[in-house]
Amino acid sequence: MFGGSYLCSRGARNGILIDVTATTLETYSPVSDTTGPTAGPASTDKRVLLLKPRGFCAGVVRAIDIVKIALETFGAPIYVRKEIVHNRFVVNELAEKGAIFVDDIDQVPSGMRVIYSAHGVSPAVREQSKERKLKVIDATCPLVTKVHVEAIKFAKQGYSLILIGHRDHDEIEGTLGEAPDVTQVVSTVEEVQALQVPDPEHVAYLTQTTLSLDEARDIIQALKEKFPKIAGPHSQDICYATENRQTAVKNVAHQADLVLVVGSNNSSNSNRLVEVSQNLSTRSYLIENSGAIDPVWLDGVSTVAVTAGASAPEILVEDVVAYLKDRGFGSVEEVEVMPENVRFGLPPEIVQAIQSAPGTTPATV
Ligand code: SF4
Repeated sequence: MFGGSYLCSRGARNGILIDVTATTLETYSPVSDTTGPTAGPASTDKRVLLLKPRGFCAGVVRAIDIVKIALETFGAPIYVRKEIVHNRFVVNELAEKGAIFVDDIDQVPSGMRVIYSAHGVSPAVREQSKERKLKVIDATCPLVTKVHVEAIKFAKQGYSLILIGHRDHDEIEGTLGEAPDVTQVVSTVEEVQALQVPDPEHVAYLTQTTLSLDEARDIIQALKEKFPKIAGPHSQDICYATENRQTAVKNVAHQADLVLVVGSNNSSNSNRLVEVSQNLSTRSYLIENSGAIDPVWLDGVSTVAVTAGASAPEILVEDVVAYLKDRGFGSVEEVEVMPENVRFGLPPEIVQAIQSAPGTTPATV
């Protein structure tokens, strides 16, 4: 029963599975659409460039699906440690369906089911869950798990570990927790200069998955100058979704007078998109939804580029585009900078739950 509805609630587009929360744009014609119901006065010179890829990444789709499936399969309440992804709209929507978001594991009643967010957790949190006999479902993005595995490997080999990222971000808290005694977090080149390690010949670095590519490159360069023998990950830790969204902004920002990034304040990759645009001298703002747009921003603007962070649902992008159309931006053109076709499998505990739901055949999972 459940497996069928899971697949039916999604659609395939360009080989990407689209989460149900993103399907509202299936009805929307982005390419040179000048006729929508909210279109304002006809104006051929005011246009919206809708960047692609934008919005949900594979890790976010997976994490949201995990919460929805858990709610449908096990029923409410389902506890979620921290925001499942950093987006208020998504969190509120899941809370309405029965998810209870908590900051700490000790807020989850003993023996209940808890989901770890896409940003991952430290071993200490896993231990706490065990002590409270919680039933854990892990929605950590596989690309975050990859960084945890690297941290464990370097620590076991006796390296001092430099973790490039933002100290207050949930992901850094989790990764740091894998080897707290040998790990130092840096977020600027200046902090690299001040680093002290027991053996400068035995140092390794890792990064948060959602950093600015340019900033990370400068920090890694500074690390290599300070520790010429420094080791690093086999492939970069900054994930494909972060890189693709930043590349899209880099390619299009010069054609726009203004770049609007849909995303929440605490979304790291969304904030980085604003910075990328600003570094290219194109004015840019991070907005939760159309309600956050100050009409003054549009004064004298003829081209607005719109993108969205990896945790922002398409329905909010649609809302922003409708707002702009209402204010005379009659031409909406989707600019695909590169194709994106990534999806992640569900964790075993969710696959088992779907398989054991009444009426499910293995083929529907
Ligand atoms: Fe995973 Fe990257 Fe998405 Fe974060 S932004 S959930 S690391 S794919």
